[in-house]
Amino acid sequence: MSKIIVAIDGYSSCGKSTIAKALAKYAGYTYVDTGAMYRAIGLYTLRHHLTETADIIAALPQIQVGFVLVDGAQHVTLNGEDVESQIRTLEVGNRASEVSTIKEVRAFLVAQQQKMGLEKGIVMDGRDIGTVVFPQAELKLFLTASPEVRAQRRYDELVEKGQQPDFAAVLADVNDRDYRDTHRAESPLRQAQDAIVVDNSNLTREEQMKVIYDLFNRYK
Ligand code: C5P
Repeated sequence: MSKIIVAIDGYSSCGKSTIAKALAKYAGYTYVDTGAMYRAIGLYTLRHHLTETADIIAALPQIQVGFVLVDGAQHVTLNGEDVESQIRTLEVGNRASEVSTIKEVRAFLVAQQQKMGLEKGIVMDGRDIGTVVFPQAELKLFLTASPEVRAQRRYDELVEKGQQPDFAAVLADVNDRDYRDTHRAESPLRQAQDAIVVDNSNLTREEQMKVIYDLFNRYK
């Protein structure tokens, strides 16, 4: 049976990674979280106090982003160090969103992402997967949900991780990030013309997964 590429794009915190992981498991495909790759670069720039674009670009040859499996879960690595828990903070998320506006950072990561898809059988989520990384993907999904629903999900996630977020700040952050993701000059978040839109504001996880599995079975 031939394998396909599934590209999943959408706003932050609309459940892309949960869906992508579940679909990859269902299909027996590899899952790649490209947001984690931008976060790893964001973490590197925070650790090394790099704020100037030119300094960030100059540091790219020293940065290696990869993935390892830990108890069946995918963890991102930065120069060989498992940084999965360090990258999941608001601070790193914001820095990731900033560094992701730099053309050279995008080219650096997109090249790696395209290599990962050479053998197909991949579910990749991000902002530019269906438009830039794999414009030829057989199945493109564009996920959306209202900013309030997404802020609540992110809030719950942070609480679960032991953090004590402020809901208004989380909502403001979701809106800021949407703005930056859709207004940047380099590969702004936009729906590919041939993407299928799934608005999950009012869908349970089970309802949503049924929609996604049905689509996969139709396109595979
Ligand atoms: O998806 P996640 O919130 O982990 O992504 C972190 C940031 O990385 C996003 O806010 C977005 O700006 C950026 N990103 C991107 N392109 C991707 C994936 C993420 O610009 N393919």
